[in-house]
Amino acid sequence: MKAAVLTTPKPVSQRPLRISTAPDPQPGPGQMLLRVRACGVCRTDLHIVEGELPPKQPGMIPGHQIVGEVVGGATKQFPAGARVGVCWLGGIDGTCPYCKRGEENLCDSPTFTGYSVPGGYAEYAVARSDFIFPLPEALDDLHAAPLLCAGIIGFRSLRVAGVQPEERVGLFGFGASAHLTIAVLRAWKCEVYVSTRGESHRKLAASLGATWVGNEIEKPPVELDRAVTFAPSGDVVIAALASLRKGGVVAINAIHLDRIPQFDYDRLLWGERQLRSVANMTRADARDFLALAAQINLRPKVTVFPLEQANEALLAVKNDAVDGAAVIVP
Ligand SMILES: [Zn+2]
Ligand SMILES: [Zn+2]
Repeated sequence: MKAAVLTTPKPVSQRPLRISTAPDPQPGPGQMLLRVRACGVCRTDLHIVEGELPPKQPGMIPGHQIVGEVVGGATKQFPAGARVGVCWLGGIDGTCPYCKRGEENLCDSPTFTGYSVPGGYAEYAVARSDFIFPLPEALDDLHAAPLLCAGIIGFRSLRVAGVQPEERVGLFGFGASAHLTIAVLRAWKCEVYVSTRGESHRKLAASLGATWVGNEIEKPPVELDRAVTFAPSGDVVIAALASLRKGGVVAINAIHLDRIPQFDYDRLLWGERQLRSVANMTRADARDFLALAAQINLRPKVTVFPLEQANEALLAVKNDAVDGAAVIVP
């Protein structure tokens, strides 16, 4: 099959992915073979190909927002030809203390699609059959793909931040995940305050119903109940913290941050403000979010790249040059 293979991690401008021929994957017991119809591009893929996340094994195929069609290992629930989604969490051990607590997102021995096992920047992929999800029929392949990480993890961020209906919520950074998260917040009748660099991102936020939109150095005009940060920048986390009311929560939706700058505890964290990270996802997050997405008719804005341009797709994400989500089609 054709695939985008990571040889040595390096800056994406140096084209770390090689478009080449890889052996067709073979499903083992409890696994399915999928023909990839589309695969979303996530900032985590960028951290993998650039090496901020250390390589798990050589020759990795990234991609963890896979819309696929079952072509092997079919089950009663997912017959041949069924359209399914695969996410970042590709498996758990089921036996560690976190799995036993029902916190599978924190599993000690997780499988991560497109990181510890090959992902969806390819014509075919294998996935555990207990970690795939049926997709809303109303959404075509291209528009379903970004829901599978950008959407689900954004949704989990709102849960981690403890968002309640009608609250004031800040979104710091406005890429693929935030542009889906705002739709959920609008459905919950929240006021949404968006702080982001890039004129086109600000325009998109305004068109999607933000109450207020500002650039990365402007402060929202009101104190926020909750905030979610999406940029891989500690400065953005501090800006979010500085905009909270007492008792407010910042959820950091980023698997990697440059660093956290020193900050003033008395002014920024005192008053029971909280800083929380968002790690991975659970299958319940996926099911609940996909059901909600269907109910509110969530439709991402997408830019399509052919598999041959996987490096270009990642470069566009890195440079904030995509409004909404980038999707690769093999
Ligand atoms: Zn992701
Ligand atoms: Zn576990």
